[in-house]
Amino acid sequence: MDDRIPCVYNANHLIKPEKLVWHYVKCDDRRRLQHLFEVCPYNSMHHVPKPEYDAHIQRCKPPTTQINLNFGVDDPWG
Ligand SMILES: [Zn+2]
Ligand SMILES: [Zn+2]
Repeated sequence: MDDRIPCVYNANHLIKPEKLVWHYVKCDDRRRLQHLFEVCPYNSMHHVPKPEYDAHIQRCKPPTTQINLNFGVDDPWG
């Protein structure tokens, strides 16, 4: 089974997911195009075109911890 995924800088580069971060370190097309991309702060495998970066961050960021709204409320039945 072929589980390789395409490099965002050149779809002809098919890379195994566990090698992708290393590929981006040495990819020649990245060197040429990296000014057009941002790297996701949540996943170093996510290299995102700048126009899509904000939307990507919104989708990718981990859910914030729910604030417990009942915190500090006295239980009237206690
Ligand atoms: Zn590449
Ligand atoms: Zn991401």
